[in-house]
Amino acid sequence: SALCAAVLFFSGCSERKAPEPAGIPQEPKRVTIGFSLDSLIVERWIRDRDVFVSTASSLGADVIFQNAANNPSAQVAQVKYLIDKGVDVLVIIPQNAEMLAESVQKARSRGIKVISYDRLIRNAGVDLYISVNSMEVGRIMASAIIREAPAGNYVFIYGPKSDYNVTLVQEGLRSVFVQYPGIFHLLDFHAENWSYDLAFEQVSALLEQGKAIDAIVCGNDGLAGGAIRALSEWRLAGEIPVVGQDADIAACQYVVEGSQLATVYKPISALAREAAVQAVALADGSFTAPSDSIFDGVQDVPVMWFQPVEVNRDNIDEIIIRSGFHSANEIYRNIP
Ligand code: BGC
Repeated sequence: SALCAAVLFFSGCSERKAPEPAGIPQEPKRVTIGFSLDSLIVERWIRDRDVFVSTASSLGADVIFQNAANNPSAQVAQVKYLIDKGVDVLVIIPQNAEMLAESVQKARSRGIKVISYDRLIRNAGVDLYISVNSMEVGRIMASAIIREAPAGNYVFIYGPKSDYNVTLVQEGLRSVFVQYPGIFHLLDFHAENWSYDLAFEQVSALLEQGKAIDAIVCGNDGLAGGAIRALSEWRLAGEIPVVGQDADIAACQYVVEGSQLATVYKPISALAREAAVQAVALADGSFTAPSDSIFDGVQDVPVMWFQPVEVNRDNIDEIIIRSGFHSANEIYRNIP
């Protein structure tokens, strides 16, 4: 019959096999996920990518990976390439929160589902935003540094404005600092491409001008590293509290040495694993949207939040080593 011919055609059965009774589902088609990321320079993204890819493949999905190397137009072109390849789902870590809205619309018009991973794509109506709560990251950084410097001259070195997490971290910081009227903003600087060198230059310039700095809040550990290098050239490392986020290896080493006050641990493996699970669910139709949502500039989109944790000298063994995020050897390498 025509039905039987169609079943044979789609399943690729040979004629020797007995025809399957009608109604029995066929072997599901392999899911293909297009994974587009901004850059691999910041340490954490290697883990995000590796855990995502290994989870997806253990679920029987293929991942086509694209790295935009900090170039937002390259990312638009790479997402177009993935759409043209006919992937089932796109997972995107946007370099620029605004620039990908059109690409997302194009994907969705072709029936491709879209997950905004870690960073929100604005004005795009993605199917799911999955991230560590960046507002909470800001609150954690502020509460840690305020213990050391409840008043004084603060230096803020944020990531680029094109990353919506930066706005969320700033909101979190503000929600705490608003209760401390003695905090003065000596500098509010946005470092393009999360550049270590720019953070180094900004802090060096302030020190050369003889400015008194009481505390330095950095958007991530790479920026904190640049700030700490500048401080150490003036023999001030450890004298002025510095905070960052990500729990990069270097930052964890600084925390145990005392040159960085605190960093923020993000449960990246859990985040990446869950993103892969949700990507496959979106592709096979079993996805159920979480009840939390976030406004993307035009509409509310479903969001899954993971919670960050402060890492300081007192809890680093528990949060970082015992969880297996980094080993004791890596972190205590410089300690005699
Ligand atoms: C992430 C940080 C990361 C930074 C630079 C931000 O969007 O939240 O974890 O360090 O991008 O890649």
